[in-house]
Amino acid sequence: MARDPRTAAVRAGLNTDATWNAVIPPISLSTAYRREDPAVQPAFDYARTGNPGRSTLAAAIAELEHAAGAVVTCSGMAAIDLLLHDLPFGARVICSHDAYGGTRRLLDARGRGGRLVPVYVETSDTDAVAAALKQPTALVLVETPSNPRLRISDLRAIADLAHAAGAELAVDNTVLSPALQRPLDHGADYSVQSVTKLLNGHSDMVGGVVCVADADKLANLVWWTNCAGIGGGAFDSYLALRGLRTLALRAKAQCENASEIAAWLEADPRIAAVDFPGLASHPGHELAARQQDGFGQLISIQLADGIADARDIVQRLQVFTLAQSLGGVESLVNIPALMTHAAMTPQARTEAGISDSLIRLSIGLEAPADLISDLNAALAP
Ligand SMILES: *Cc1c(COP(=O)(O)O)cnc(C)c1O
Repeated sequence: MARDPRTAAVRAGLNTDATWNAVIPPISLSTAYRREDPAVQPAFDYARTGNPGRSTLAAAIAELEHAAGAVVTCSGMAAIDLLLHDLPFGARVICSHDAYGGTRRLLDARGRGGRLVPVYVETSDTDAVAAALKQPTALVLVETPSNPRLRISDLRAIADLAHAAGAELAVDNTVLSPALQRPLDHGADYSVQSVTKLLNGHSDMVGGVVCVADADKLANLVWWTNCAGIGGGAFDSYLALRGLRTLALRAKAQCENASEIAAWLEADPRIAAVDFPGLASHPGHELAARQQDGFGQLISIQLADGIADARDIVQRLQVFTLAQSLGGVESLVNIPALMTHAAMTPQARTEAGISDSLIRLSIGLEAPADLISDLNAALAP
């Protein structure tokens, strides 16, 4: 019987300290671990290979993701890169066309030398994925909800298509975290995420995680993590475990705040379009309601014609902070074309529906009324 995720997150690693009976697992910063016998491998040996805090965090996230195991890495990008290490040379990788800008930059960079062949597809269109899978493919990497347009991809349908075509499915679960979506339950082979975002939630560490459905695949990922030196550090793991304890509460409250703000924005004539999967008008609303346990904290908006320049609006906001990143307790605002998705070519952005004036909001835990009056004042002509 699986533990309730709130219980699992709060109890992870508690009461494991044998030295002082510390309730909270202490941080272990040592880079080396003493052996009793040179021929006997201890649980921890050298901190790049593993450290107790990283293991505790990995086990906690794996439990929440319903995974056989997980590897904690030093960033979300390192987690995504970890998926690519063992792909054969020239492997075809299908990726959501409006995936995180850094994901596309990584796949394109790996593609330049022929190491991989990235193919960008509108994965919220299942038929487009089926068509792309007609050619031999090693990996399908889906980001749902996509970022910044918050399109919803049907994970069960894509998992079935990918497996029938001999490909694996990895899902970037950063935007929702396991509190709101568990991709492995929908047939994905891997769930990766940037721990930096909603999972840690306090915007004070950088980390990533790869969760695997099949225990046999774990050892190889652990091997690469040590080989390439991309494991999560002790201090970052400590902070992320602390953040994880309140994940369920934060995610729920941020979803509620975002719903309230999205409804206000949709009713305002100064806003031409609102992307938020919680709105009945959103094309992925029904799928999101089925596949997710909440609609998330991201909202993207397009201003109506004649309303001030998007750059002016974001600079006028007083409560929102103009900064990259998402998912933290603090509300942030970002212009993807100039910030998070600036690494994409203008043509790639156009194909992905990311206009130069699209504004993305990450809703935090401030009082929603304060966020609404901030938006209202910034939008005033
Ligand atoms: C931030 C982000 C990443 C990369 O994570 P880092 O921790 O910054 O390396 C990957 N995917 C998504 C969706 C993200 O938002």
